[in-house]
Amino acid sequence: MFYKFLFLTLFSSLSYTFANPNLALQCLKESYPILFIEQNRMTYKDILWELTKIPKHNNMQDYENALRTGNLADSFAYAYPLGFRTLEPFKDSTRIHDYAFLASLYGENQKNVESHLKPLTWMDGSQLLFNSQNGAYAALKRVKDRLIQVAKENPKLLTYLENIGGTYKWRKIANTNRLSAHSFGIAIDINVAKSRYWLWDIKQKALNQDIAQIPAIIVQIFEEEGFIWGGRWWHYDTMHFEYRPEILCYAKALKNAESKTLKNSKSL
Ligand SMILES: [Zn+2]
Repeated sequence: MFYKFLFLTLFSSLSYTFANPNLALQCLKESYPILFIEQNRMTYKDILWELTKIPKHNNMQDYENALRTGNLADSFAYAYPLGFRTLEPFKDSTRIHDYAFLASLYGENQKNVESHLKPLTWMDGSQLLFNSQNGAYAALKRVKDRLIQVAKENPKLLTYLENIGGTYKWRKIANTNRLSAHSFGIAIDINVAKSRYWLWDIKQKALNQDIAQIPAIIVQIFEEEGFIWGGRWWHYDTMHFEYRPEILCYAKALKNAESKTLKNSKSL
């Protein structure tokens, strides 16, 4: 048990060591090519400017300020913990959203976002509205098709995938003044009854990241299609998946870059 913890800590700290603005920019280009083509959207120059420096968040105050101000660069402060979960609350950088950035991708206001929504018939027959821009809808459709296949082998998975909590809703995050990813139609909450949410658990005095789980195959499929999972956050939200392909791209690229550095330093 101790060794497992040590490994988790060591690995997490390694993957968090160096922020890399060039890799972040490369992943944004790959994930949202339209941003770098259309003039009336956020321009390459703006993005480059925001990413010239990825800020350091050293404590909860830094983190909470970043959550409020929502700068694009802040969401890259600590990489998404692929295969693990964040061990300290102020390292949940991927909970940070830049609203101007999301608006430029998915719609400037409620009416504009709603004009981009498209219904997807989910596996339980319900109609889910999702944003058709930037491949978000197409990614959710691929997730659905793959989940149907794995659920044929393992029907127990279906209990997590029915009674969907919701996709699009123009709303502020509970107890805050901030819009949620659901407001842009790029997030899905799966079965709420099978999920855990850090705020509910705090109220019950039952905050426990170790039991915040859903079946790994569900998480794997969402992640492979460009969705980050709220269960990897210290502020866990295990029903929540949101389309953030740049975050997954960055986590993988950073991991590759760092393992190359490690190999090189060993061979010196
Ligand atoms: Zn959600």
